[in-house]
Amino acid sequence: MTLVTLQRQAPVAQDAVRCRLCDDLIAGQLQDDLLVGQPGTAQVQAVACERCGTTVTRLVELCGSRLDILIRDESRVPRTRKRLPQTRA
Ligand SMILES: [Zn+2]
Repeated sequence: MTLVTLQRQAPVAQDAVRCRLCDDLIAGQLQDDLLVGQPGTAQVQAVACERCGTTVTRLVELCGSRLDILIRDESRVPRTRKRLPQTRA
């Protein structure tokens, strides 16, 4: 299992321009860092905006910190078309 640590309100790094999660511009003086690895050896894997950081925080508050995430993308599942009833004139 991959351990991800969300470091909230870290100082903005010079090379951090966009949020890795939503691709929005990172403006201001603070950012959120996603660190991967065990505490003490974890490294910044991605930079997130404060809004995405808040979303991740709320997800963990809702589900707890021990969670696995399975992503199902309904837009990629082929849909069967419903046939409309035929009307006779
Ligand atoms: Zn974002």
